[in-house]
Amino acid sequence: MGKPTGFLEIHRSTVPCRPPEERLGTYDEFLVEVPVSHLKSQGARCMDCGVPFCQSESGCPVDNLIPEWNDLVYRGKWREALDRLHKTNNFPEFTGRVCPAPCEGACVLGITDPPVTIKDIERAIVDRGFSEGWIRPRPPARRTGKRVAVVGSGPAGLAAADQLNRAGHLVTVLERDDRIGGLLMYGIPNMKLPKELVERRVQLLREEGIEFLTGAHVGVDIAAEDLRESFDAVLLACGATRPRDLSIPGRDLAGIHFAMEFLHKSTKSLLDSRHADGQYISAAGKDVIVIGGGDTGTDCIATALRHGCRSLVSFELLPRSPESRSADNPWPQWPRIHRVDYGHAEAIQRFGRDPREFSILSRRFIDDGSGRAAGVETVRVEWSRSGGRSEMREIPGTETTHPASLILLAMGFLGPETRLSEQLGIELDARSAFRAELGRFATSAEGIFAAGDCRRGQSLVVWAIREGRGAAREIDRYLMGSTALP
Ligand SMILES: Cc1cc2nc3c(=O)[nH]c(=O)nc-3n(C[C@H](O)[C@H](O)[C@H](O)COP(=O)(O)OP(=O)(O)OC[C@H]3O[C@@H](n4cnc5c(N)ncnc54)[C@H](O)[C@@H]3O)c2cc1C
Ligand code: SF4
Repeated sequence: MGKPTGFLEIHRSTVPCRPPEERLGTYDEFLVEVPVSHLKSQGARCMDCGVPFCQSESGCPVDNLIPEWNDLVYRGKWREALDRLHKTNNFPEFTGRVCPAPCEGACVLGITDPPVTIKDIERAIVDRGFSEGWIRPRPPARRTGKRVAVVGSGPAGLAAADQLNRAGHLVTVLERDDRIGGLLMYGIPNMKLPKELVERRVQLLREEGIEFLTGAHVGVDIAAEDLRESFDAVLLACGATRPRDLSIPGRDLAGIHFAMEFLHKSTKSLLDSRHADGQYISAAGKDVIVIGGGDTGTDCIATALRHGCRSLVSFELLPRSPESRSADNPWPQWPRIHRVDYGHAEAIQRFGRDPREFSILSRRFIDDGSGRAAGVETVRVEWSRSGGRSEMREIPGTETTHPASLILLAMGFLGPETRLSEQLGIELDARSAFRAELGRFATSAEGIFAAGDCRRGQSLVVWAIREGRGAAREIDRYLMGSTALP
C-alpha cells in the first residue's frame, strides 16, 4: 500500500473522455491519454484491503491482482505492474477500454466513498507497456506436438489460443469472418475499441506461433467432423450470435435490421474504405429508432449519430434504474443504477436530450404504403412486483406513434447457432447454449470443449477471457494428463 492515507486525502477522478462535440465528427477513440501524475495519485487511493473485494466473486472475473498493481503504479514501477497485470489478463488493452469494471462495483472503498479508478489504471499500465516496447512476442521454448483447433476468434478464442500456445501446443484459430477478433472487431465500434489495437495483439499472437485462418466457416466450408480428425482437441468459442427478434406486426417491412447487421457492416466498410464503398446500412438523414438498451443499443446510437441521422430515439421496456443502489442491490454487487454511457452523452450533445424512453413497449411497425417502415406504434407500461416476480401492465391511453425510417433491434442474443452442435452431436442446456460445466468446459462430445458466449450466453469480454483461459487449462490437462496453466 503506497500511501496509507491516500483514500482519505485524494478524491476519485476518472480520466476524462474527448468532449462529445469533438468526438462526434470522427470514429477515432474517445478516450484520451492519461497523465502519469494523475494515475499515481489515483493508485494511492487503494487501501490494499486484507480482503480485496475488487478480486472477489463479485469483482474482477479474471482475478486481476488489483491492489498489487495499484501500489506498483503509485511507486512508479510500471514494468512490474505490467507483469502483474499480464499474469491474469491476456488482453488488458481491451478490458481497460470496454469492461464495465465489476471490480469497481465491488471495491471496498465504494462502501463509503467513490471506488478506486481501477479500469483507468489498468488501461494506462498496458498502454505504457506497448509504448515502451515492453510487450514483445514470446514464442514458447518447446512444442508438445499436439494440435488444437479454436473455432471463433473473439476474446474467448484468442485468450484460449494464447494460453494453449504458451503451453507449447500448435494452435489454429478458424474464423469465418474476414478479420480476426469476433465482437472486438465487428461488434464494439472503433471509437470505443480502435481496431488497430485488436490487430496489434493478433499480430503478436501470430509472431508467437498461432496460426489464424479467416474465411474459414466451420460447419460450412470445413466439416466439423474433419476438425475432430485433424486436431487432438477442439475448442468452440463461436459466440452467441442468434439475435432476439421482435415478432410484432410489420416486422417484414424494409428498414428494420438487427443491430449486429448495422454495426458489423458499418465497421467493415469503415475499415475497408472509410465508408467510401457504401457497403453499409446508412443512418444519414434518417429518423432512427433503436429498440433495446445495453451495450449493443448504445453502440447503435453512437454509430447512427456519426452517420448523421436526423433524429434518434431508443426504447427500453424496463423502467429507468435508480440514481443510487436500491436496498436489494447492496455492495459488493454490481450497482444497477442509471448511467449515461458515451452514446447517450453524444445524443444529448447533438439533440439536446437523452434519447432513451423507458417503460415503453413496441406494438407494431408502421408501413409507409410501399413496404418500408415509417415508424413504430408504442404504449407505455407500468411495472410492479408480485410474489417475487416483476409484472408489466400496459397503461391505457398512452399509445403513441414515432416516425422512423431506420429501426434497429438490439434486444440481446439467444445463444449460439445450432449448426455446429448438430454436426458434432453436442448437448445444449436450457438456454440453448453449449452444455459444458464452468471450470471443466468439456462438452458432451469427446475432445470438444466450449468457452465464452457460446457456453455462458451473451456476457462480457472479461468473462470471455476468463473462460478462454479456463478452457485452455482443461484442454492442456486433457492432452497432457496434467497442467501448469493457471
Ligand atoms: C454490439 C456489442 C457491444 C458489446 N460491448 C461490450 C462492451 O463494451 N464490454 C464488454 O465487456 N462486452 C461487450 N459486449 C459483449 C462481448 O463482446 C462478448 O461477450 C464477447 O465478445 C464474447 O466473446 P466470445 O469470444 O465468446 O464470442 P465472439 O466475440 O462473439 O466471437 C465469436 C466468433 O466466432 C466466429 N464464429 C461463429 N461461428 C463460427 C463458425 N462456425 N466457424 C468459424 N467462426 C465462427 C464469429 O464470426 C465470431 O468472430 C458487446 C457485445 C455486442 C454484441
Ligand atoms: S477493494 Fe478497492 S481499495 Fe480494496 S484493494 Fe481492491 S481496489 Fe484497493
